[in-house]
Amino acid sequence: MSTKMMMGTLCFGLMLWGCTSQSVAEEDVAKTQSTIEKPVTITAEQWGSDPLPIPEDRKHTPKFITIHHAGVDWKAGNDPYEKIRNLQSWGKKTVEDGGKDWPDLPYHFLISPDGRIFEGRPIEYEPETNTNYDVHGHIGVQIWGNFQSQRISPSQVDSVVHLTAWLSQEYGVEDASIGGHRDVAKDTSCPGADFYRYLEDGQFLGWVNQVRDGESPTIDLGEPLEGGPTEMIPLPE
Ligand SMILES: [Zn+2]
Repeated sequence: MSTKMMMGTLCFGLMLWGCTSQSVAEEDVAKTQSTIEKPVTITAEQWGSDPLPIPEDRKHTPKFITIHHAGVDWKAGNDPYEKIRNLQSWGKKTVEDGGKDWPDLPYHFLISPDGRIFEGRPIEYEPETNTNYDVHGHIGVQIWGNFQSQRISPSQVDSVVHLTAWLSQEYGVEDASIGGHRDVAKDTSCPGADFYRYLEDGQFLGWVNQVRDGESPTIDLGEPLEGGPTEMIPLPE
């Protein structure tokens, strides 16, 4: 083989190698750039939020996604707008007045039984809690209802799955840092047996991964847990 031919083969080889590695690189870029769209939300302005200023020293960098239930049965006829405004005004009251001295809602997102996502406290501020854990870095998502006594609705699961997929992308939250309130605080059953089951058996993360892969999550809530709850949460009108 002449030197010229050898050089030719080498160049051709390099070209092929160059092509392949370039297309792999492009695919990688495409993958990391494929963005999950933010789910539709009802903004704080849209529901008429009226917070107090939150002190600067309560700013944080979100690192965890922590999911809660309300722990109070959602009743037929309940209105999500009324519910969220009441939660905010109760929390803002002083402790002497029966409130919590919270400047704003304790959570960043709240999910209605029909799947509507309401925005609460601005995400750059840490949330609030009645239990014993360091809230710094936690994104608080509350799903309305009591999943110790009611079954979560498929729309709520669909919304919390899409919201979690988007939040984890937006804030670089690792899968190990996505969980329920009871994973970080020992003195609570929150987010309730009928939702926690999907966190515990890995189905929830599976659905989140489907959204990350650009697919629709194949959410099937299955049979009620042995021992309940069996009653489905009522939907707002
Ligand atoms: Zn909780």
